[in-house]
Amino acid sequence: MKNDKDLTQMYEAIGISRPVLDFGTAVLEDLADRFREIDETAEYNQLKVLQAMRKHRVSDIHFAATTGYGYNDLGRETLEKVYAEVFGAEAALVRPQITCGTHALSVALSGNLRPGDELLSPVGKPYDTLEEVIGIRPSQGSLAEYGVTYRQVDLLPDGGFDFAGIRAAICDRTRLVTIQRSKGYDTRPTLSVERIKELIAFIRSVKPDVICMVDNCYGEFVEKLEPTQVGADMCVGSLIKNPGGGLCPVGGYIAGTEACIGQAARRLTSPGLGKEVGPTLGLLGSFYQGLFLAPTVTAGALKSAIFAANIYERLGFPVIPNGTEPRYDIIQAVTLGTPERLIAFCKGIQAAAPVDSFVVPEPWDMPGYDAEVIMAAGAFVQGSSIELSADGPLKEPYAVYFQGGLTWYHGKTGILMSLEQLCREGLVQLPS
Ligand SMILES: *Cc1c(COP(=O)(O)O)cnc(C)c1O
Repeated sequence: MKNDKDLTQMYEAIGISRPVLDFGTAVLEDLADRFREIDETAEYNQLKVLQAMRKHRVSDIHFAATTGYGYNDLGRETLEKVYAEVFGAEAALVRPQITCGTHALSVALSGNLRPGDELLSPVGKPYDTLEEVIGIRPSQGSLAEYGVTYRQVDLLPDGGFDFAGIRAAICDRTRLVTIQRSKGYDTRPTLSVERIKELIAFIRSVKPDVICMVDNCYGEFVEKLEPTQVGADMCVGSLIKNPGGGLCPVGGYIAGTEACIGQAARRLTSPGLGKEVGPTLGLLGSFYQGLFLAPTVTAGALKSAIFAANIYERLGFPVIPNGTEPRYDIIQAVTLGTPERLIAFCKGIQAAAPVDSFVVPEPWDMPGYDAEVIMAAGAFVQGSSIELSADGPLKEPYAVYFQGGLTWYHGKTGILMSLEQLCREGLVQLPS
């Protein structure tokens, strides 16, 4: 495959040299089948979202702003029905008042747990920000302060579920089980929806009335099914990741059973008010349109992750997931081995950003981390990680975590820019 002359010139104009572009093109040649599969999933999910919008008769009146209490917000109520439909759930809470993914998870947990209950994670340590929500790290306002205890069963060394350990950990007080779909920034494998189904079925066989919640961050629309379609009582995520399609400026969602969503709503607003209040302030157009674009945006991010894996794997760097294994989220880790390479990689991603491309990222002491962290992000929405971004702590093994890309072409350019920067600084040698 040869690149078109105009395209080659355009890549050169943006700062990507011929050898880097040619190397990228050669890597891409082997990815055609993978990309076709991703497109098929995106097509399926596009129809799923479209059908939900048609069924609930979405109309431009639903994009109108409400203010104050936000009583009878038709747009909000319809959007929540559309989300419930897409996630195969009875109900949903989709609100700009939910600040982020951590907040959505915190609302889902604290709304559905009571003093004396126990929370169980059967898949190891949850995402960093949940440690303070749960009280794994002592924190004011945590569930632990309200008398909710926590138990954890780690995955087996091969990534499998420790069924015997889980059975032993479930007790009378076990009220809610939290299952994180994505590995996040851990090294365990991400769970497929199929494996989540198996885990939930097992938990139900031990204790039928336990609430199963899935932290769905980074997983939405990667597969054809969502966890609420295979038995989860709640699916929770952030709208500045996959389901916001890059257009939501803020927000989180919880989809699930009427009972669980009701409890979460009473925590988000107030007992007695629940889902009935919550103005949408004119933001709903972007919520609907973002959801509509989410399947193709997620597909672009997935292609970008797979491209990055194959580029860096071919150059001899360890990558998780590897270049060929199936994907269940949009995060790519590349172990670069030295601080210089980690910094150069992030510089390249930053230079490819549509916003703040002229900024040079520097490592800094971020609160809550035990090493300096470097981050590259030039996003339209602050902190949005469905937009192209990369970060990593400056410590062994100098791994970079890479995710997002609102379009595949932008993701591709970002990865090529990272490689260009590494080559320019003499930190990587292209195969001849
Ligand atoms: C991003 C993420 C969260 C937290 O979401 P924020 O929007 O950053 O608060 C929780 N769990 C997982 C797996 C995530 O990827």
